[in-house]
Amino acid sequence: MPAKILVSACLLGQQVRYDGGGKLCEDPRFARWQAEGRFVSVCPEVAGGLPTPRPPAQIRGDKVVTEQGEDFTEAFDRGAEIALQAARTHGVALAILKQSSPSCGSLFVYDGTFSGAKRQGEGKTAALLRKHGFKVFGEDQLEEAERELARLEQERTDSDR
Ligand code: SF4
Repeated sequence: MPAKILVSACLLGQQVRYDGGGKLCEDPRFARWQAEGRFVSVCPEVAGGLPTPRPPAQIRGDKVVTEQGEDFTEAFDRGAEIALQAARTHGVALAILKQSSPSCGSLFVYDGTFSGAKRQGEGKTAALLRKHGFKVFGEDQLEEAERELARLEQERTDSDR
């Protein structure tokens, strides 16, 4: 069975983003991995109980807040736990999550000022997955993700011999 990948639902075009849209990743590797049945999709924010559409939220300190100051931290943390559970249940090899999201960002997140500025950092789900040993890549790192997938599958083949 091919190694599984936990993926942000919006990257598969599912309309789960805060603005009610999706963010389909059109890279051919994505279509291939989908055809191979590798994807386990999750939208941590929806899984955590937030509606779609919802107000945009950003990380400020250890909280996730809207521009009006509404505290969404609990839902984001719940969503991260559900994503971790899905990763474990399906035994995923790695995760590919939407870059810059306060849940899914793995290299960058918005800086909490709602000015459009980003900073280095990770979203709640990406951080929790990494804390539990899962490798997390953004949709802007598919080459690295593909390499890691090949490495893991080779490792698996070698240990089966
Ligand atoms: Fe996409 Fe993640 Fe945001 Fe859900 S929480 S819309 S999967 S970036």
